Amino acid sequence: MQRSVMWFRRDLRLSDNPALLAAGADGDEVVPLFVVDPTFSSSGAVRLAYLHDVLSALDDSIRSVSGAGLVIRHGDPTAVVPAIAHELDAAAVFVSRDYSPYGRRRDLAVADALRGSGRELRGIGSPYAVAPGGVTKGDGTPYAVFTPFSRVWRKVGWDAPFPHPDDAFRWRGAGTAVDAEPMPSRPEPGIELPSAGEEAAQRRWQSFIETPGAADGTLRSSVEAYDDLRDRPALTGTSHLSPDLKWGTIHPRTLLADLDATGDGGRGHTVFSSELAWRDFYADVLFQRPHTAWENLNTKYDAMVVDTDAAARERFARWCRGETGFGIVDAGMRQLAATGWMHNRVRMIVASFLVKDLHLPWQWGARWFMRHLIDGDLASNNHGWQWAAGTGTDAAPYFRVFNPTTQQQRYDPSGEYVARWVAEAVEPMLDHAAERDEALRRLDAVTSASRRSDGAAPT
Ligand code: FAD
Repeated sequence: MQRSVMWFRRDLRLSDNPALLAAGADGDEVVPLFVVDPTFSSSGAVRLAYLHDVLSALDDSIRSVSGAGLVIRHGDPTAVVPAIAHELDAAAVFVSRDYSPYGRRRDLAVADALRGSGRELRGIGSPYAVAPGGVTKGDGTPYAVFTPFSRVWRKVGWDAPFPHPDDAFRWRGAGTAVDAEPMPSRPEPGIELPSAGEEAAQRRWQSFIETPGAADGTLRSSVEAYDDLRDRPALTGTSHLSPDLKWGTIHPRTLLADLDATGDGGRGHTVFSSELAWRDFYADVLFQRPHTAWENLNTKYDAMVVDTDAAARERFARWCRGETGFGIVDAGMRQLAATGWMHNRVRMIVASFLVKDLHLPWQWGARWFMRHLIDGDLASNNHGWQWAAGTGTDAAPYFRVFNPTTQQQRYDPSGEYVARWVAEAVEPMLDHAAERDEALRRLDAVTSASRRSDGAAPT
C-alpha cells in the first residue's frame, strides 16, 4: 500500500486544498503533518498563539472526518520531514509551495534530503490566486508596478476551488500507529484573539458577502459597500480575513469564485478583488527580489539620512506606545497592541509618520508590526512599509507626505475611531509642517546626489 505525507504549512485547511487532494490521489494513505520549526520562535506571542488556535482547529477537522489527528513534530524540517517519511515509508511528501525567501531555502534543503533516500517533495499550488512568477510582461520579465500587474493577473486567472476530500480519502493520522508529539504550547497573547480555523474563516467571509446591512446602515452587503467604507477605520468596512489568508484557513481562489457567483456586486467586488491582487503582487515582488524583504527596492534611497541615535530610539518608543500626540497615529498603535490588527488606512498613516515625521528607518516599524500583527506577513508587511516609505514598488512618491491631522479629518470625521482608543489629550510631540520640510530637505539631498552620480549637472 502506498503512503504519502501532507506537510501543512501556510495552507491550514481541508477545503480547496489541491496539495492535500494530490497526496490522497490513487487511494494513498495520507499522513497529515505539521512541523513546529524552531525558527517560529522569532514570531511574536500573538501570532504564535493564533497559529496554535489554527492548528487546534485543523486537528479537530481532521479528527471529525478520520477519527485520527494532525501529526505534530518539533524540530528542523530538514531533519524532521525526511525522518517521518522514512519512518512511515512514504514515497512522497506533498506541500503547497512556499515562495518566501526562508521557505524556498528550507524546501530546497528538504527536497535534497528526501531525494537522498529516493523520495520526493511535491509542490502543488500556492497560497495565492496566481502563484509568484505567474504574471509577467510579454518578454517574461516581472512587473514592478501594480496597475499593469493587476491587469495581467486578471487575464492569467485562477482555478475554480477544489473539493473537500471525500469519504474515500484515507487518513493515517495521530493515534493510528503514527507517533505524534504535543501541540506547541500556546504563548499567552495578552489580548483576545479572533476565532481561528477554516470554519471561522468561512463564517467571516459569508457574513462579509451575504449579510445585508453594511456598516453604513444600508441594505447592501459589506462587500458591496466595500469601496465606500474600506477607508473608514471607525466602521467594520473590511473583511478582517487577513489572518485567515496568512495561515491559509481560506484560499483567495474561494473568495474570487464566490464573488463571481454572487453576480454583479459592482465596484465593491472589483475593488475587493484588487486587494487580493495587491497581496499576490507583493508576494511576486518578494519572490523576484528576495533581498527586498529588508532592503530598499529602490536603492537610490539607500543614501537617505535616517536617525538611529538615542533620541531617535526615544521617538520610536513613543510611536510604539501610541503617545505621539497625533490622535489617529496613537489610536492605530493602540489598536495594534490591543487587538493584533490595524486598519489598512491607519497602517499607511502610522507608517508614513514613522518615516517622514520621525525620520526613522522603515525597517524599525516593519519589525514592530511583524512582532504584533496576527496577520504579519513578510511580503505584504515589508512591501506595505516600503510603499509608505516611498522606497518600494509603485511607490507613493517620497515627497508625498501624509498629514496625520488632515488624514484624521478625512477618514475619521466624527472622531469615533480615535475616541475608541485614545481617551486623553496629549501635546503633539512635533510640528508636522517642520518635519515635512525636514523630510523634503533630506529627499532633496538624495535626489541631488543621485543626479550628480548620473552625470547630470547639479541644480
Ligand atoms: P480587506 O480590506 O478586507 O482586504 C482583503 C484582503 O486583501 C486582506 O485580508 C489582505 O490579504 C489583502 N490586502 C488588502 N490590502 C492589502 C495591501 N495593501 N497589501 C497586500 N494585501 C492586501 N497585510 C497583511 O496581510 N499582513 C501584513 O503584515 C500587512 N502589513 C502591512 C503593513 C503596512 C505598512 C501596510 C500599509 C499594509 C499592510 N498590510 C498587511 C495590508 C493591509 O493593511 C491588510 O491586509 C489589511 O488591513 C487587512 O485587513 P482586512 O483583511 O480587513 O482587509
